[in-house]
Amino acid sequence: MESFDTLIIGAGFAGAVCARALAEGGKHVLLLESRNHIGGNAYDCPDSAGVLIHQYGPHIFHTNDKRVYDFLSRFTAWRDYQHTVAANVPDGKGGRQEFPVPFNLVSLETAFPPEKARQLEEKLLACYGPERKVTILDLRQNPDPEIAALADYVYSHVFVYYTQKQWGTTPENIDPNTTARVPVFLSRDCRYFQDTYQGLPKDGYTALFQKMLDHPGITLRLNTDASQVLDLSGDTIRYEGEPFRGTVIYTGALDALFGFALGALPYRTLEFQFETFSADQVQSHATVNYTMDMPYTRITEFKQLTGQVLPGITSTVKEFSRAYEGAPGQIPYYPIISPENNALYARYATLAGKFANLHLLGRLAEYRYYNMDAIAARALALCDKLLEDSHG
Ligand code: FAD
Ligand code: UDP
Repeated sequence: MESFDTLIIGAGFAGAVCARALAEGGKHVLLLESRNHIGGNAYDCPDSAGVLIHQYGPHIFHTNDKRVYDFLSRFTAWRDYQHTVAANVPDGKGGRQEFPVPFNLVSLETAFPPEKARQLEEKLLACYGPERKVTILDLRQNPDPEIAALADYVYSHVFVYYTQKQWGTTPENIDPNTTARVPVFLSRDCRYFQDTYQGLPKDGYTALFQKMLDHPGITLRLNTDASQVLDLSGDTIRYEGEPFRGTVIYTGALDALFGFALGALPYRTLEFQFETFSADQVQSHATVNYTMDMPYTRITEFKQLTGQVLPGITSTVKEFSRAYEGAPGQIPYYPIISPENNALYARYATLAGKFANLHLLGRLAEYRYYNMDAIAARALALCDKLLEDSHG
């Protein structure tokens, strides 16, 4: 058996950042990954046409956290990319119309005649102030009838149908922090994110992960599910039948770790439909959201994200959101945050709490809607603590 003092399950951002930080702190890390590749949901690879695609949906790195940016920048250079998204909706005259998302002052001017747009802008700025972000649920509470009518317009043209497709229910019935990710923005800044550091790894995410995991203190084992080697049925964690008292960091789904003993935690999954076209470019923006019709939520054209130069050929992905049923090959992408689901998660977390050397980290293991940078930040903070404890 290899000699290791740290076991990490999952080679996505959570697991890989921990592996590197702990290996640099002198730990001997065994990193297990059930898939046949590293990178988790950020994994990218060329498709059969040679276009670099994101296998699990488009990933744009953005953060205000300098520590995270500096840490990841050791393993990649960045393509400076500012993400923009258009909503594509029927124009009511048999054609289609596009406007920026998040809905902003430019969207307002596209959606309404000039005089009406000017009046609404004046009102909004007087009420909230310039460059402010207002969630759709807050905007809908505004007592001014004209602002309320605008809120209805944004709700029906941007949020209600898209949210129904993505979550199977309306914006009022999901965690308010979710729609708050895409607020109405009283600005002419058409970027999707305003974070200081934004971009894509120059050679892709997989290359970033390869460099991050290239350390003598890290042993990587792909195609290995934790359930094949870990046993949590007793008082001590067992690895391949032997008690393991080193650190265990688990980044997979918590219900799966305990064999679904308390029932399944609900998630949304996605189906991806990839397409390749003989064209340089097929849509106006890297991502176009279909907010009022179409069965898919959005289409992303990868070359616009990655900046890859490949004349005459381009690939896109359509995303279809579905209830996760645990069918073979289905991947749980989004925890469904709600008081009831959080309570079930808390019961699993209590089971996990029995093992002092077990640490839960990541979107699935923590049942939280984290972006990549938040996961990397949490991974670095956890490693700080583990290294401090072991050295102190
Ligand atoms: P994951 O990436 O899911 O990694 C977990 C890894 O653990 C996986 O490789 C999995 O195979 C492995 N694993 C799980 N269970 C086991 C087991 N039992 N045994 C062995 N291995 C196991 N974030 C952004 O910042 N910007 C974006 O633009 C963005 N876009 C997104 C688009 C989509 C469609 C989705 C779904 C997410 C997006 N995210 C984005 C979020 C981002 O994917 C997550 O923040 C990030 O992947 C979290 O990393 P993680 O390591 O927690 O999880
Ligand atoms: N949303 C929406 N219309 C849009 C974009 C987002 O209704 O055009 C809502 C929807 O509920 C979505 C949430 O806002 O799930 C968060 O969107 P975000 O783009 O942050 O989701 P991600 O794809 O990053 O998970």
